[in-house]
Amino acid sequence: MDGAHGDRDGTAPGQQGRSASSRQADPFTHFIFQAIQAIQAGIMPFKTIHDRLFAEHGLQHWWPAETPFEVMVGAILTQNTAWSNVEKAICNLKTQDALSPETMLGVPQTELAEWIRPSGYFNVKAERLRNYCRWYLEAGGLETLERLETGELRQRVLSVNGVGPETADDIVLYAFGRPVFVIDTYTRRLFSRLGVIRGDEGYEELRALVEAGLANEPDRVGLFNQYHALIVAHAKEYCRKKACCAGCCLRSQCRGCDGV
Ligand code: SF4
Repeated sequence: MDGAHGDRDGTAPGQQGRSASSRQADPFTHFIFQAIQAIQAGIMPFKTIHDRLFAEHGLQHWWPAETPFEVMVGAILTQNTAWSNVEKAICNLKTQDALSPETMLGVPQTELAEWIRPSGYFNVKAERLRNYCRWYLEAGGLETLERLETGELRQRVLSVNGVGPETADDIVLYAFGRPVFVIDTYTRRLFSRLGVIRGDEGYEELRALVEAGLANEPDRVGLFNQYHALIVAHAKEYCRKKACCAGCCLRSQCRGCDGV
């Protein structure tokens, strides 16, 4: 994660005249306002953006993990670090046969921290992992949590100390297979450059906005799974902090392209 999305003023072309009523409306009404404006302004719908990204990058095969619990661990370890570092940490956990909540709680925290050292911030993350494991076991594990309705499940995951909205949504989407859209720095940067969002929306507002824009799509779990991974792929190859717009499949309708 590179934290780059603050180089624009956040006001997307075509959105400057938006009324106060649309700004205060619920996410679905807000989306309708935006959709009408988007059509008038020639801004791409969320599904069209996905389709172009899919045509460019293809199937992404996320999340790279063998079990739902491995997804959960990866989601916590990937905070503020590259995925290649997470892979090393998870490899260490597998070598130690420690990729289970019982083992992570059964060893001293310092030992767990050593195993996950490659992921960075390893002392903090060891504590977060143990918080998560404690909660996970007390909640009854996968079998019990899977029975919860999506909103309740998301709130329960979010209640764990050290789990923020992006981590929670990684877990809810990729470990539990529920239709929540993950918002990260790449998502905000891409969508704001394209002009489909302002860029200064809060996490929940932005998530609701994208979900409302894709509300009628079939298989939203599969769609959201691919979409988030495609955004990451595109942000790494083209829509970087300093955008490489030449060759970008979205360039013809991008408001943020600086012509490079
Ligand atoms: S044209 Fe440039 S700014 Fe726009 S989405 Fe592509 S890489 Fe990003």
